Amino acid sequence: MLSISNLNVSFGGVQALNLKNFSLKKKELRVIIGPNGAGKSTFMDVLCGKTTPKFGHVLFKGKSLIGKSETEIARMGIGRKFQKPSVFEGLTVFDNLLLGLKGKKKFLSSMFFKLTQEQSDKILEVACQVNLEKELNTFAGSLSHGQKQWLEIAIVLLQDPELMLIDEPAAGMSDSETAKTGELLCELAKNNGVIVIEHDMHFVEQIAQEKVTVLVRGEVLTEGTFDEVKNNQEVIDCYLGSPDSAQVKK
Ligand code: ADP
Ligand code: MG
Repeated sequence: MLSISNLNVSFGGVQALNLKNFSLKKKELRVIIGPNGAGKSTFMDVLCGKTTPKFGHVLFKGKSLIGKSETEIARMGIGRKFQKPSVFEGLTVFDNLLLGLKGKKKFLSSMFFKLTQEQSDKILEVACQVNLEKELNTFAGSLSHGQKQWLEIAIVLLQDPELMLIDEPAAGMSDSETAKTGELLCELAKNNGVIVIEHDMHFVEQIAQEKVTVLVRGEVLTEGTFDEVKNNQEVIDCYLGSPDSAQVKK
């Protein structure tokens, strides 16, 4: 699904990312961990077209993403959920989803548009996927932090992405919300490729299915199963033993 080689991103001469190789299978769920500043978010920025690399190859389903705009990449099937929720608090869950479906301009310019059966079915379907089907008439501003994050995931799901990029979904969530988010991500990975950036090692343990990738200073330090990575001495030295890792805090 994703094949990357020699990917390099620099900001003002400072190297943020230098990935020799990275690949993802269809419907794989990959977790990326690593200390602050390791290049994790930059990696996602490249994959969704927000940042252009200095050089390198990024192929998604055999097609290059380099030089493509964010809109083009979204159309190709990559959906990104950013770290901070940005839902419209003064609108209901339903209307937030409607906006996600119709696009902001169309929504705002037509007060009396007709919702097709297909569109309302789609809204209900994604609301069910993220456990918000009972909250469709709730104002987004009244949702818990975790529910807002799920609403954002639902908005990404409306675009039927084949690959979802999710940056620190569990940050700021309660333990029960974190556990539910883990279930949600595992469920999504049955039909989609999913790349998740996460700090909380308990959460990583819950969701890691095959491989975990450890990024340090823009490079892949190692890749392996959760247990392999957790017991890797270099990973312990560079990351798990540092205050960045939530495992140490708990
Ligand atoms: P992570 O998500 O792993 O914490 P980032 O990808 O945010 O790391 O950052 C990687 C490095 O790139 C850091 O040194 C950061 O300061 C730098 N960086 C990220 N985005 C920018 C930017 N827009 N301009 C300048 N430097 C940036
Ligand atoms: Mg980040």
